Amino acid sequence: MARYSVVLLPGDGIGPEIVEATQIVLAAAGVEIDWKPFDVGVAALERTGSPLPDEVVEEIRRCGVALKGPIATPIGGGFASVNVALRQRLNLYANLRPVRSLPGVPARYSGVDLVIIRENTEDLYAGIEHWLDDDTAIAVKRITRTASRQIARFAFDYASRHRRRQVTAVHKANILKMSDGLFLQCAREIASQYPQVRYVERLVDALCLDLVLDPERHDVLLCPNLYGDIVSDLAAGLVGGLGLTPAANIGDEVAVFEAVHGSAPDIAGKGIANPTALILASAMMLAHLGDDEAAARVERAVVETYRRGRALPPDVGGTATTREFTQAVVACIA
Ligand code: ATP
Repeated sequence: MARYSVVLLPGDGIGPEIVEATQIVLAAAGVEIDWKPFDVGVAALERTGSPLPDEVVEEIRRCGVALKGPIATPIGGGFASVNVALRQRLNLYANLRPVRSLPGVPARYSGVDLVIIRENTEDLYAGIEHWLDDDTAIAVKRITRTASRQIARFAFDYASRHRRRQVTAVHKANILKMSDGLFLQCAREIASQYPQVRYVERLVDALCLDLVLDPERHDVLLCPNLYGDIVSDLAAGLVGGLGLTPAANIGDEVAVFEAVHGSAPDIAGKGIANPTALILASAMMLAHLGDDEAAARVERAVVETYRRGRALPPDVGGTATTREFTQAVVACIA
C-alpha cells in the first residue's frame, strides 16, 4: 500500500507537463504515493458547473495534502480565482515561498536565500469590490487582527525553528495607517515574544529597492497578501526566473503545494516548461509529511542537476525539454 495519499490537481497550461515531471521524480526517489487526481478551473466548470467542486475540497480535507499545477483565472470576468478560493475555503492562511539561488543559473545574484511568508486569506484578495457609480470601481483592503497575528506567529515560529536570523515586516503603514498599521502592530506584538529573532520593518517600496540592490540584506519577509504576491515574483527574478520557485499554502489541518508561477499559456504544450518549481514544492510536501530524508534526496538531485548544467531548460539558458531535464534529475537521485 502507498505510504501517502495526495490529491493531485494538474491545472492548466504547462500544469500537466510539470506535474508529470514531478511524479516521475518522486517515483524515482522511491516515494510511494496514491495520487487522487481531480480537474478544477475551466475543465471542472464544464463538467460539474463549478470551477472548484465541493468533492475536491472535501478530498483535500480528507487527505490533508494536495499538489497543484497552476490554474488559470480569467481576467476581468468569468469565475473567481480557484487558487484564492482554495486558500479561503481550506483556511490555508500561510503561503511559504523559499527563494534560493541554484548553481549555474544565469541570474543577477548567486547567494540569495530568502523566505517569503505571505498572508493568504485577506487584504485585496478578499475580492470585495463594487461599483460606486459609472466612473468608479472600489476594492476593499481587508486586514484583520486575527489573520495578522496568525501569520506573524507563523513567520516567527518558522524563523525560530529554521534558525533564521531576521524577520522583516513589509508594509505601507505611512499611507495605509489603519490597515497596514494594524498588520504592523500585530507583527510587533508577536515579535516581542521571540527575542531570539531580529525584527525589522520595511516599507514595501524600499524593500523592493533593497532586494534589487542587495538581496542578502534580508532573510524572512513577513508580508500582507498583495505585497507578498508582488515581492515573490521580484525575488524569483533575482535568482533566474519563475520556473524555479516553489510555494506551500499551509493551514492548521491541510496544506497545498504548488509553483509560484502561473500556467504559462505562451509555452504550454511545447514540452519546454521548467518543472523545477513544482519538483521543489513536492520536496516541501515530503518535509511537511515528515519524510525529511526523501525531501532532502529530491532537493539534492535538483541542485546537482543544476550544478552539472548539462540538461537545463530554455528559461534558464539551456536547450533541454521538460522530459530531458526530468531524466537528468532522476539520474542525480542518490
Ligand atoms: P497566469 O495567467 O496563469 O498567471 P501568465 O502567463 O500570466 O499565466 P506565468 O504563467 O507566471 O504568468 O508566466 C509568466 C512568464 O514566465 C511567461 O512568459 C511564462 O512562459 C514564463 N514561465 C512561467 N513559468 C515557467 C516555467 N515553469 N518554465 C518556463 N517558463 C515559465
